[in-house]
Amino acid sequence: MAAGEFELIERFFADLGADRDDVLLGVGDDAALLAPSARKSLTLCTDTLVAGVHFPLDAPAEDVGFKALAVNLSDLAAMAAEPAWALLSLTLPEADEQWVAGFAAGFGELARRFDVALVGGDTTQGPLAVSVHLAGWVDPALALRRDRAQAGDAIYVSGTLGDAAAGLRIWQGDESLRSGPEQRFLIERLQRPQPRVELGVALAGVAACAVDISDGLAADLGHILRRSGVGARIDVDALPLSAALRTAVEPAEQLQFALSGGDDYELCFTVAPFAEASLSEIAQRCGISLTRIGVIEAEPGLRLCHRDGREAMLPESGWQHFMSRTLPRS
Ligand code: ADP
Ligand code: MG
Repeated sequence: MAAGEFELIERFFADLGADRDDVLLGVGDDAALLAPSARKSLTLCTDTLVAGVHFPLDAPAEDVGFKALAVNLSDLAAMAAEPAWALLSLTLPEADEQWVAGFAAGFGELARRFDVALVGGDTTQGPLAVSVHLAGWVDPALALRRDRAQAGDAIYVSGTLGDAAAGLRIWQGDESLRSGPEQRFLIERLQRPQPRVELGVALAGVAACAVDISDGLAADLGHILRRSGVGARIDVDALPLSAALRTAVEPAEQLQFALSGGDDYELCFTVAPFAEASLSEIAQRCGISLTRIGVIEAEPGLRLCHRDGREAMLPESGWQHFMSRTLPRS
């Protein structure tokens, strides 16, 4: 970016996030200089948010900054990794100081909360987009990979599902829908997802597999099933739904949002039966509910079952609606 690039970096990004002893040289040189520990594996992830695709064009800048880091923290959480260092690539249509100040406030709040240092980045001119690269640490023997699920493992999710999809619907809709407490809660779940970092770290050595739910439970659990070469049975009546979702959205849509709505950033994980006993203490320590929603089975495919015996339908094009007969498996 031409005029203003260096002022923007100096003012908003030179000293953002946590101070860490393992940062020898951060923002300001050609590249960052870091002092990694020898005991664990370095784990890296990146996620890009494009205006109009991953966040509404009119989303508050604070929320965009918060979410850009949150979605990456969520990926590391799903590996049981502790986050450490971030790079930020920011593409801005113009050097709008007010927007950048808001963005930095949202990003910095979350970075400090999880001890993440911003160690560098890039600032360019173009259509609004944000890329964050995040590095963290995990014992490779305890990392929560997607290819370790076994028949008989229980399937759990954290928090509640479907809230962000409902929040997006509300955000896109009538202004009058935005006022009630349920609506505010659902929009907050969309714009400010809380990454389950403590939970991910606590599940190291307890869970077998984990994935963060960014594309909807069915799609993301599907990644575990394919990579592990197994199937699953989900009790759809057990899916954790918030009171706000139940109030704001009709029942069929609640389940559609819970199964296929994106942007939840909860963790879905599998646990061998002997390890399930430790989950209530972990839930309490991390201050998050954990719900058993199903079981891993040897037969491939995802089976969605109601307690009255009906099976739910999940066609390849995405979740559609419930049927009272048995349907093809995915
Ligand atoms: P170069 O021209 O060598 O690519 P830049 O001018 O892009 O360097 O960046 C100067 C310094 O500012 C570098 O240390 C870079 O990591 C940092 N930086 C640039 N943009 C950002 C940003 N959005 N957030 C954090 N650091 C940034
Ligand atoms: Mg550059």
